[in-house]
Amino acid sequence: MSLKDIIGQEKAVRMLLGILIRQKVASSYLFCGETGIGKKTAAVDFAKALNCLNPQPAGPRITSDSPVDACEECESCSKIKAGVHPDFLLISPEERLIRIEEVRIIDDALSYKPFEGRKKTVIVDDAETMNISAANAFLKTLEEPPQDSVIILVSSRPDLLPETIRSRCSRINFFPLSKASCREVLAEKEKDAEKFSLAARLSMGRPGIALSSDLHEERKWVLNLLRGMLHAEKDGWSSRDEMQRWFDHALVLLRDMTVLKLTDDPRQLVNNDLEGYLTGLSKSVDVKVIIYIHQELSRIRRLLQFNLNKSITWNYTASMLRKGLVF
Ligand SMILES: [Zn+2]
Repeated sequence: MSLKDIIGQEKAVRMLLGILIRQKVASSYLFCGETGIGKKTAAVDFAKALNCLNPQPAGPRITSDSPVDACEECESCSKIKAGVHPDFLLISPEERLIRIEEVRIIDDALSYKPFEGRKKTVIVDDAETMNISAANAFLKTLEEPPQDSVIILVSSRPDLLPETIRSRCSRINFFPLSKASCREVLAEKEKDAEKFSLAARLSMGRPGIALSSDLHEERKWVLNLLRGMLHAEKDGWSSRDEMQRWFDHALVLLRDMTVLKLTDDPRQLVNNDLEGYLTGLSKSVDVKVIIYIHQELSRIRRLLQFNLNKSITWNYTASMLRKGLVF
């Protein structure tokens, strides 16, 4: 894939192509936006374009026909795609943490001139997971960027990065995809019609989320845990990732319950195959209570990054849901 093939991120792609055309490549970027909307893919495509041996025109999005986009076929593009280009490095957190050791690897990689390519490119995925010592060390790298190097921080929570780091990067914003674009991305990967339809609705503009997991199975698991909560069973999450996924689904279910209460129109539901279940769950509950629970769950979802205690969070959430929905 090259920049011109990215679906639905018109503004970000035009900015990146513009940077390539004007040859005004900054030493560091921050790609921001929700999880699953193509930030990392765009970062890799940008790295390919920076080093492509046979650049191509970037297509109809821009007026210039300068050859600046990746060809996808040359040795450089292939090596970056396979993650084996000597001038390309992708750093991801381990156990939700980027440590100072990773920053040392970045420094080491950037300390040489490009071996084969034009620009040494480092992508730091989920950059907000850097701990304090990693962030401090990384700031030094950003303050004195080695020549011919580009660092791209990718983050769904840029507000968690120190301001000193954010302010040194050129920011490129990405947004959830429109319904049509999301369906277009998913249609390329999901051939089962029923799964496709549910994934398109549940992903809510974030096709990467639908592609990285089986949302149908995941929702079954979410509903099962919800049942457990309402019956005062004990903590059913096994990790923080699971907690995050559970809250993401629960928020959409509460959103649907609110919509049902206010409009009584099942066509507007994300989970429209669960109309009966959701109607039953919200039948004797005031809409204000549902909205309150939604707000509380959103607040807890935001706090999850602070390593909330799993069983305390479970008990608190379960007791609120029982009071609100079962009383
Ligand atoms: Zn190429």
